[in-house]
Amino acid sequence: MFRFYQARDLIEASMLRDYLADHRIRSEVFRAGLSSGAGELPANIYPEIWLYDERDIDLARGYLLDFLRPVGEMAAWICSNCGERLDAGFDLCWRCGAGRELA
Ligand SMILES: [Zn+2]
Repeated sequence: MFRFYQARDLIEASMLRDYLADHRIRSEVFRAGLSSGAGELPANIYPEIWLYDERDIDLARGYLLDFLRPVGEMAAWICSNCGERLDAGFDLCWRCGAGRELA
């Protein structure tokens, strides 16, 4: 397993895990600090996302950027297949059906 991201809270962590799962990336939420030794106060209590497969890291980073970006600030994109300009809300080109490529 591979540590990927530290979330603000369990809600964000769960949402991100589900978001990654939608894109076929397996991950798990862990509470940082729970594994520290007895008598030690955890350094932090923020949940972490760990990937099952380290090879997913580049893809997952791309999805993370999309996940963290407020919808209103998402950039429009240009279809690499046909050159159509598409609004941020589309994941597929409405003209030719090509998928959006993450920068
Ligand atoms: Zn297109």
